[in-house]
Amino acid sequence: MDFAFDNSFHDRMEGFYAPAAAAKPPAPELLAFNEPLAARLGLNTEHTDREELARLFSGQALPAGAAPLALAYAGHQFGHFSPQLGDGRALLLGELIAPDGVRFDVQLKGSGPTAFSRNGDGKAAIGPVLREFLVSEAMAAMGVPTTRSLAAVATGDRVQRERSHPGAVLTRIASSHIRVGTFQFFAAHFGADHVAQLSDYSIGRHFPDLADAPNPHLALLDRVIALQCDLVAHWLGAGFIHGVMNTDNVAISGETIDYGPCAFMDRFAVETVFSSIDANGRYAYGRQPQIMHWNMARFAEALLPAIHAVDPADVDRAKALVDAIPERFREAWFIRMRAKLGLGQAHDDDIALIDALFGELELHAVDFTSFFRALAQLLRGDGAMLNALLPTADAMAPWISDWWAHLERETIAPLERADAMDRENPLYIPRNHRVELALAAAETGDLAPWRELLHVVRNPYTSRAEWADYAQPGPEDAAPYKTFCGT
Ligand code: AMP
Ligand code: MG
Repeated sequence: MDFAFDNSFHDRMEGFYAPAAAAKPPAPELLAFNEPLAARLGLNTEHTDREELARLFSGQALPAGAAPLALAYAGHQFGHFSPQLGDGRALLLGELIAPDGVRFDVQLKGSGPTAFSRNGDGKAAIGPVLREFLVSEAMAAMGVPTTRSLAAVATGDRVQRERSHPGAVLTRIASSHIRVGTFQFFAAHFGADHVAQLSDYSIGRHFPDLADAPNPHLALLDRVIALQCDLVAHWLGAGFIHGVMNTDNVAISGETIDYGPCAFMDRFAVETVFSSIDANGRYAYGRQPQIMHWNMARFAEALLPAIHAVDPADVDRAKALVDAIPERFREAWFIRMRAKLGLGQAHDDDIALIDALFGELELHAVDFTSFFRALAQLLRGDGAMLNALLPTADAMAPWISDWWAHLERETIAPLERADAMDRENPLYIPRNHRVELALAAAETGDLAPWRELLHVVRNPYTSRAEWADYAQPGPEDAAPYKTFCGT
């Protein structure tokens, strides 16, 4: 299999990474391979058997042209600055140029220790690897910007966590792995020149239209803020809780990255937290916009030396950009919510309608994902789905009639609108109880439930009778769902 590698970070950014090598796994075995993604990347697998794929995507064999390295970065973790993190369990194999010219990082995750591993083993267990594969594919299918998963390979090794698990390696595809924490690392240890070099590289790679801006570093800040506003609006719209929004887990490309303790909410509650280590709810569902704002303030700080070096007056402009984030986020959020609610036009009083909705959903503990599908069913003249979600048939009657009044200002036919809403609002998401069942089976060697769940969440919008169970939330009386970090 030929890889069209062109390793620009390796070739142009010496000093920003440490060369690294993969540990050789004893008995690699392919668990999953993402054929459509391979095709999109221009990887021709026609003459490559499963054994070869397992060797290539576990680190046992190095593809021709790879230049493996571990990226240096820092990061604020739960508000506290760690000056030295870096890829401790990941290895960037190189950058692939897809047939359409788009550049992607190919990274192995769980392929052994690097210069940045500190006390970690550099490995990953099968559960978190299959969880990232599943959730990232679900996000991609829902149109949420995200890194992707190309392959999952069992290593034949055991990995010790609270107990021993089968080891695995995930191949992650990203438009790059440059994070806010990457900027923080070079701001903290090296200063303006290195920050400017990283900024210039990032602009050349992701945002070439900004290269001629009067102050490109300020323009980069502006663009990354826009992408983060859009990203977090998508998360909220999908009921997604990232769970560990540390600055080292914020990609400047605007893709969701680092699927550790993430999960989707069933019954709506704005304070929902799943991560076992997030005791104070810092990264709760409803706090994600504020945390994004905080993370962007850290990004601005890291960029400031470079911004200042071009024009000291731009420091105030950077501050103004950060101050404007809440408003900018609300705009992105209203765009998402209008689409979810089937509103074609923007009116000032949409805001009151949207804000009121969340109080209602919380009050009645409504299943978030099902609710928007139930609204579309109402447009088709079928109120049964909505009734089943509410404690009493008229529980949300005033809000529904307000929504109806908004719809009536537009001339879209109800069925057409219902179809448009169903293209925005997923019916099938990776429900927590389903994910756990699938991962528990995979751990014992049975991948069938995981494969079926993957198939379902890759087709989130089209209702199928045989998938009715997949649309159901977990049992109401289940113990609170807990997620863990250690991929
Ligand atoms: P994360 O929680 O995935 O964002 O990781 C935070 C930092 O811990 C990163 O620098 C990781 O590379 C590092 N890390 C996490 N798990 C391991 C591990 N098993 N071995 C080495 N480093 C790790
Ligand atoms: Mg991370």
